[in-house]
Amino acid sequence: MTGEVLRRFDELTPEELEDKLARAAAAAASYRLTSVEERAGWLQHAADRLEKEVESVSGMITTEMGKTFRAAEEEVAKCVHGLRFYAAEGPAFLRDLDRDGGRVGAKQTFVTYQPIGVVLAVMPWNLPLWQAMRFAAPALMAGNVGLLKHASNVPQCALYLEELFRDAGFPDDVFQTLLISAGRVEQVLRDPRVAAATLTGSEPAGRSVATIAGNEIKKVVLELGGSDPFIIMPSTNLERATDVAVKARCLNNGQSCINGKRFYVHRDIGDAFIEMFVAKMSALVVGDPMDEGTDVGPLATESGRRDVESYVDDAVGKGATVLLGGERPDGPGWFYPPTVLTGITPEMRMYHEEVFGPVAQVWTVPSLEEALREANGHPYGLGSNLWSEDEAERELFVRDVQSGMAFINGNTTSYPEIPFGGVKRSGYGRELSDLGMREFMNAKTVWIGQDA
Ligand code: NAP
Repeated sequence: MTGEVLRRFDELTPEELEDKLARAAAAAASYRLTSVEERAGWLQHAADRLEKEVESVSGMITTEMGKTFRAAEEEVAKCVHGLRFYAAEGPAFLRDLDRDGGRVGAKQTFVTYQPIGVVLAVMPWNLPLWQAMRFAAPALMAGNVGLLKHASNVPQCALYLEELFRDAGFPDDVFQTLLISAGRVEQVLRDPRVAAATLTGSEPAGRSVATIAGNEIKKVVLELGGSDPFIIMPSTNLERATDVAVKARCLNNGQSCINGKRFYVHRDIGDAFIEMFVAKMSALVVGDPMDEGTDVGPLATESGRRDVESYVDDAVGKGATVLLGGERPDGPGWFYPPTVLTGITPEMRMYHEEVFGPVAQVWTVPSLEEALREANGHPYGLGSNLWSEDEAERELFVRDVQSGMAFINGNTTSYPEIPFGGVKRSGYGRELSDLGMREFMNAKTVWIGQDA
C-alpha cells in the first residue's frame, strides 16, 4: 500500500510443494466421506472465529492491499455471512435430485452430487478474503479439498485462511495455502492429484490456466475482467443514481471487476448527470485507508498505478477530455485520484480494455438501444447496471444486455444467495449459490432397473 516492505515470505521449495500435494490427495480420500452435518459445523466454527477477529483481519487486509478499513470490515462480514450461508443451505444443495424412473425404464433414477477431489484456486488480491472464501466455503461444504494459490502480494491473508479452516476443526490438509509464484501454477494444475481449477484474475492469467486445463481435460471456472456498463435513463431518480454511480466506480479504490466503469447517460439528462457526478466524485476523500473518513485509499501496487496512468495518458493523448482528476498526486503511497473522462473513442485503449482504478468514462446517448449497442460492443460481459423506472426499458435491458449479471436500480455486487459470473471474455462458469457449488461436483446419474 505504501511501498514499505513489512515482511517477506519464502516460496515453497519443490519438496514442500510435493508434500502439500500428497497431503491434499490423502485428505481428499477421507474428507469426501465426512457427513454434510460435520462439514456444516466446521463452517459455522470458522464463521464464529472470523466474526470475533474482524478488526485484526480487516487491518491485515488494509495493510496488504490498501482498501479502506471500512471496506475491509464489510468484506470480512461478507465472508462470515458466506460461511454461514453454505453451512445452512449446503445440505439442501447436496440432496439427490429424483427423476421419473418410469420414463426411462427404471424402478428408480436420480442424480447424486459427489465431490470431485482436490480443487486448485488461483485468486487475486483485490478482495483477498472474499474472493478466496467464495471458492472455499462451497468447496469445503461439497466435500472437496482446496489448494489456494493466492496473489503474491497478499500472503498474510492467504496463510490466515489456512489457519482459519484448520482451527475451525476441518480435518488436516483439507484446505492448504500454496505460497508459489504464478509460473508454478502449471505444475500444480497438471498434477494428476488435482482434479479441477478456478481462477479469478486477469484475462492473460485466465487464458493460460484454461489452456493447461483444456490440455489436461480438467474442469475450470474463470472469473476474469470486467468493464461494466452503467446506464442512466431520464425516468430515474438522478440524485440516487448518481450517488450509486460514484460508489460503483470507486468501490475498492476503483479496483473491482464489477465496478461500473462505462457510464451511458441519456442525453436529456446528460448535462445534469455529468455536473452532479463530477461534483460527487471530487468530494470523495482520498487518503489514509485506516482513517474512518477516507473514501478512496491508494492503489494496491506501483505497477497497478502505472497501468491506470498509461490508460489515461493514452486517452488524453488521443483527444479525450478530462473533467476531473487525471494526474497522480505527489507523496508516498500509490494514490490515483477519482477521474472523469469524456470523449472516449475506439482508438483509445480504455474503450476496449479494463481500467483497474477510479477512472470513469462517460458518454451521452440518444436512447437505451444505443446505450445497449455500445455496452454490448465491449469484449467483456461481467455485470451491468440500469437505472430506470420504465418497465419496457427494464425488460429490454434484461433481454438484450450481454452480461452474466443484470442489476436494475442498484449496483452489481456478489451475494452468496445468487450466482456470480460472466460471459464473453469475462470468463465462464458460476460462483456462489447452488450453481457455484455444483461446478465442482460430479452430477452422477443413478439408474436402478426393476428387480431381476
Ligand atoms: P492477475 O495478475 O491475473 O492475478 C490473479 C491471480 O492469478 C494471482 O494469484 C496471480 O499470481 C495469478 N496469475 C497471474 N498470471 C498467471 C498465469 N499466467 N498463470 C497462472 N496464474 C497466474 O490479476 P490481478 O491483476 O491480480 O487482478 C485483477 C484482475 O482480476 C482484473 O482483471 C479483475 O477484473 C479481475 N477480477 C475478476 C473478478 C471476477 O469475479 N470476475 C474478481 C476480482 C478480480 P501472482 O500474484 O503470483 O502473479
